[in-house]
Amino acid sequence: MTEEEVACLGKTRFLTRRAAKRRANQIRREGGPAMRPYDCDFCPHFHVGHRPGQATYMRHGIPLQETQP
Ligand SMILES: [Zn+2]
Repeated sequence: MTEEEVACLGKTRFLTRRAAKRRANQIRREGGPAMRPYDCDFCPHFHVGHRPGQATYMRHGIPLQETQP
């Protein structure tokens, strides 16, 4: 899995930072992890995540994509 796949391709794209921030707030309200919007390095859009280019879940040794065959 490349950095681009982790940071961009596997994520929802938002046209504006405001839209991404709204989604991040919604996730937080629903009891999800603290997320923040970021300007993507790989596409002209925004995503919601922990940090740009950093796959937090990979630290636990469980790549998200590989949990589903
Ligand atoms: Zn992107």
